[in-house]
Amino acid sequence: MNNLVERRPRILTGDTPTGRLHLGHWVGSLENRIRLQDDYECFFLIANMHAFTTRVDKPEDIRRDTLEIAKDWLAAGIDPERSTLVLQTEIPAIAELSWYFAMLLPFNRVMRNPTLKTEIELKGLGDHYSFGFPLYAVGQCADILIFRPELVPVGEDQVAHIEMCREVGRRFNWTYAGVDPQAQDEDHVPLGGVFPIPRALVGRVGRLVGTDGKSKMSKSLGNAIFLTDTAKEIKKKISALYTGRQTMTEPGDINNALFQYVRAFIKNPARVAELETKYAAGDNLGDGHVKAEVAAAIDELLGPMRERRAALEGEGGDKRVLEILRAHCAKANAVAEETLYAAKQAMKLDFGRRSLLF
Ligand code: ATP
Ligand code: MG
Repeated sequence: MNNLVERRPRILTGDTPTGRLHLGHWVGSLENRIRLQDDYECFFLIANMHAFTTRVDKPEDIRRDTLEIAKDWLAAGIDPERSTLVLQTEIPAIAELSWYFAMLLPFNRVMRNPTLKTEIELKGLGDHYSFGFPLYAVGQCADILIFRPELVPVGEDQVAHIEMCREVGRRFNWTYAGVDPQAQDEDHVPLGGVFPIPRALVGRVGRLVGTDGKSKMSKSLGNAIFLTDTAKEIKKKISALYTGRQTMTEPGDINNALFQYVRAFIKNPARVAELETKYAAGDNLGDGHVKAEVAAAIDELLGPMRERRAALEGEGGDKRVLEILRAHCAKANAVAEETLYAAKQAMKLDFGRRSLLF
């Protein structure tokens, strides 16, 4: 039923084109994706269908951000020779599998998902969000499982979604593939399950705070340092960070947003420890000085990405990205169609194989 034995373990993860990528993406997930490209067969998905859940009237913006995200990935170090870039709307099997999964998940289970609840609150969606909004959480289970990955590198806010994905994978395997409900997660595939039960891999900083010092850095909340920001923009955003500290002899709080950035971006651990000790003791270390060091460290990280991205600007860049997406989606469809057929076989829906032409 499946051909999981001979292949490299797989990774699937992705981003929604609701804006450009920021430092939260880097520390939460992107860094891990780049690091693991050699050891895993990687699929990175742009969730452009899900972008419509909050931007139904903004098709141009979604299209623009789709290309921006692909460019951000390439600039950050995702290698199109090793990894597969997937455009959600070009993979019809995902939408089909989402329907079958929607029937395996109790409605109240979906609505209890804490990530959805937080998003509704953070994005001010009140009670006027579309039916498609909670449905995206179900769709995300299909985005992931259609590629039958072992690992899903994500930020902390996504762990609840991955948990739901694991639940639906187990339930599918019990219901249609004869897997014993007592089976351990890692035994599902050897026991004939269609889907492996994937694990979330949370990045080195699971939830990077935004420049407002409060909420998660998020592309929709206007509190992000983007991977494309210039040295000047980085400096400006970091200088504006509010710490509430008045003088450099006042003991500072090393858990404030500024020090979260110190730990996330200054590479030398000895220097981080020194800054923490001095700041906590109020030992003549001004916020301005710490901010300048943090801004320089961020600029050092983003500088090479800016250079690689410059090569992808303009029409030539768009053309290159579209070519990659087209070729990669053909490959992704072959994988997705194989999984969907295995799922439909298990569900007694194998009335004939189909092939997709792109
Ligand atoms: P939106 O505001 O539209 O929800 P976002 O900034 O939250 O956008 P997503 O596309 O939802 O970005 O998330 C993509 C990936 O990046 C997910 O794995 C998510 O957990 C991770 N991520 C996003 N923001 C952060 C953050 N501030 N810290 C750590 N990881 C993050
Ligand atoms: Mg998000």
